Amino acid sequence: MGDKVVCVTGASGYVASWLVKLLLRRGYTVKATVRNLSDPSKVGHLRALEGAEERLHLFEANLVKEGSFDGVIDGCDGVFHTASPVILEHVNDPQVELIQPAVKGTLNVLSSCAKAQSVKRVVFTSSIATIAYKKHTQTTDVLVDETSFSDPIFAEEMKQWYVVSKTLAEEAAFKFAQENGIDLVIINPGLVIGPLLQPTLNETSQCFLSLISEGKYTNATPGGMFIYVDVRDVGNAHILAFEDSSANGRYCLVANVMPCAQVLDILRQLYPTVKFPMCSQDEENPSALPLLQVCNEKAKSLGINFTSVEQSVKDVTESLIEKKFFKISEFNI
Ligand code: NAP
Repeated sequence: MGDKVVCVTGASGYVASWLVKLLLRRGYTVKATVRNLSDPSKVGHLRALEGAEERLHLFEANLVKEGSFDGVIDGCDGVFHTASPVILEHVNDPQVELIQPAVKGTLNVLSSCAKAQSVKRVVFTSSIATIAYKKHTQTTDVLVDETSFSDPIFAEEMKQWYVVSKTLAEEAAFKFAQENGIDLVIINPGLVIGPLLQPTLNETSQCFLSLISEGKYTNATPGGMFIYVDVRDVGNAHILAFEDSSANGRYCLVANVMPCAQVLDILRQLYPTVKFPMCSQDEENPSALPLLQVCNEKAKSLGINFTSVEQSVKDVTESLIEKKFFKISEFNI
């Protein structure tokens, strides 16, 4: 892989930082885009990665600026498009904050890929949000796989703007790729957990923190379901999806689904001297939780061996403690 040049968009982010790290470890030359090259909290952790000095090149690019990615993508063998705003909880202007950057941004990146003669494949970071968000998955037990599509109209009615943005972006990407002969592989991760490389708290890690410190459900844990995957498995899946010539279509990337209460039980076993909260909603009616199941056989066929929930939960919690986002001493019994 040593001679391959790839682009990663939104490289400062939680998922993309791991992807960049794993790509560098595998010998790739990485052209990484960030919005602000002069912000140390966005680039410091990338520059510190092993291999970065020799093979990481940073560029500024913005999803909402047409042509912004042309120069970076030109000459790349592959493009990993991960950049997209992740705002799950407080959205004031859905079009401006989420939908336009996700949809127009994706088309912007794909247009640059179509212009560049060099790009052999694009791996697009989508979400389980584009697969599982429908009326009946909220109320009944159901099994979904890559053939399932979220209902953007229902998501809009429910004001789930992140779901709308990802669903419309994936639709737009699929259509553009078909019309322009782009080889597109789509990765659909669940809630991503695991160690943070970046120094700031990203939105979904904040949601995990709300769960373990307050027992609070958020839009990242719909109805109290923990639909999770480890960030290292997400990085690997992107790379395998690029390298395996037979990879195609969508890949549901969910290790398992469990009630959030089970995550807190795992933590109680790992840290016996810490008093973790109860999930308040569960106390009222613990058996009422509808449990979505996600088929991950296609992801396994790509070569993913999913990290155990105990390992992922331990590693993300340790990372939150180490970065001082989770002040565990305040919870000691
Ligand atoms: P994150 O840490 O917030 O990273 C998002 C990245 O997108 C950031 O680097 C951000 O750049 C970039 N971005 C946002 N708006 C942009 C714009 N207008 N122009 C250029 N870049 C822009 O989130 P993440 O959790 O790593 O998510 C990365 C990808 O994974 C997203 O596509 C997300 O939908 C998908 N995903 C995440 C999860 C999860 O649980 N975390 C689950 C499923 C799918 P700045 O650093 O400059 O803000």
